[in-house]
Amino acid sequence: MEQVFKLFPGDNLLSGHGPNRCRTCAVVGNSGNLIGSNYGPIIDSHNFVMRMNHAKTVGYERDVGSKTTHHFMYPESAQDLAHNVSLVLIPFKILDLQWLISAFTTGNITRTYTRVLSKIKANKDKVLVLSPHFFMYVYDNWNEHHGRYSSTGMLVTVFALHVCDEVDVYGFGANNLGHWHHYWEKNAGAGAFRVTGVHDGDFEANVTKTLAKDNKIYFFKGV
Ligand code: C5P
Repeated sequence: MEQVFKLFPGDNLLSGHGPNRCRTCAVVGNSGNLIGSNYGPIIDSHNFVMRMNHAKTVGYERDVGSKTTHHFMYPESAQDLAHNVSLVLIPFKILDLQWLISAFTTGNITRTYTRVLSKIKANKDKVLVLSPHFFMYVYDNWNEHHGRYSSTGMLVTVFALHVCDEVDVYGFGANNLGHWHHYWEKNAGAGAFRVTGVHDGDFEANVTKTLAKDNKIYFFKGV
């Protein structure tokens, strides 16, 4: 941890709140239900646009937008980011913290349980790391221990509830044909998110539904 804090300044990039501020956030999951939604402009109109893992915008701007302020990832889902984007590391394991250091310095970590990017292009001064305590808090209180651990989307949604005044959620759940693929996948039957087996997709979908019913988030269901 000492090394992490030495390398990344840890300025409070999320501070500030008050009656005069309304920070609007779009949480953009990777569901195929975004395709054909035309949500691009409305997603881009938010102060913060949070994306995750292998999310891409080039070629999908009309449906997913082009703005990103925060990109959540872990080593196995990492990709290079533009200079104005905050990399938010989700540390699923201690090695992920070591990878973060390595990816910005020596590049000596090239494998975890699979091959990972040895170096990453991203703005070091905008790096954030989710606290493992936050991880546990989400799993205990929001997942209520359903699934082996919380999905990235769940973690980002709860994160947004903590730092935003308004949370709009896109790209979660199946499309109207019941497919759970990612929006960039051609094979709609792939069921990528659903077949991981480690997350309880139905339980998480119910949490999201309840949050929407209670007006804590606004849920855009896509097509
Ligand atoms: O698959 P991946 O974890 O990269 O997707 C990011 C998040 O988007 C997931 O954690 C999940 O919350 C959400 N997602 C979804 N339905 C899909 C695909 C992704 O709810 N079909």
